[in-house]
Amino acid sequence: MARIVISIDPLPTERPRARKQLVVCSRCGPVGGPHGLHTLATAAQDHHLAQHKAALTTPTTSEALR
Ligand SMILES: [Zn+2]
Repeated sequence: MARIVISIDPLPTERPRARKQLVVCSRCGPVGGPHGLHTLATAAQDHHLAQHKAALTTPTTSEALR
């Protein structure tokens, strides 16, 4: 089974100071919208990873994520 990797990708913008970060899951694709703060992006990353971990221990919901 493939390992799930959730990365934080910076989005290129015309204003470097307003750079947004997108949380991308290797299985689900982009998770939510872009975040303006790195702390918010990492929080979303942790949250999504927790959802996958919860799903892995619950067979009924793991099917819904495929
Ligand atoms: Zn995912």
